[in-house]
Amino acid sequence: MPVSSQKHVVVVGGGLVGTLNACFLAKRGYHVDLFEMREDIRKQTAVKGKNINLALSIRGREALKAVGLEDCVVTNGTPMYGRMVHDLHGNKKPIYYGRKDQASY
Ligand SMILES: Cc1cc2nc3c(=O)[nH]c(=O)nc-3n(C[C@H](O)[C@H](O)[C@H](O)COP(=O)(O)OP(=O)(O)OC[C@H]3O[C@@H](n4cnc5c(N)ncnc54)[C@H](O)[C@@H]3O)c2cc1C
Repeated sequence: MPVSSQKHVVVVGGGLVGTLNACFLAKRGYHVDLFEMREDIRKQTAVKGKNINLALSIRGREALKAVGLEDCVVTNGTPMYGRMVHDLHGNKKPIYYGRKDQASY
């Protein structure tokens, strides 16, 4: 579609919601400009503020699948089958998130 006939959308915030919305809007043919106030985390040697790993479960996978990004993200993820509970005596007990073959990433 020529840029001149495209509708423009501005998305402010490049977090989970803003980036996913930008992908959905782009898939619908909008020209999307995404503004994020923080620097690109991949280019920083030290990241200011909070920085945590994100767990990706089935809802997030469905959203990523809808924009064609599920495989790309899941293949770079680490499967997490459950959590490990450690008691005061040093015993460990796994609690699985689902069936033993199911995982969050
Ligand atoms: C401790 C913790 C652990 C979590 N763990 C998980 C998890 O494991 N899995 C999971 O799915 N969810 C997790 N969540 C929830 C998840 O982080 C949020 O649901 C999600 O980040 C919300 O997305 P968002 O786009 O609304 O906000 P954000 O991810 O906060 O994104 C907002 C973005 O907007 C930018 N911004 C703000 N103001 C401006 C501005 N004026 N101009 C430009 N940019 C701006 C910010 O810099 C930010 O990048 C966790 C949350 C917390 C606090």
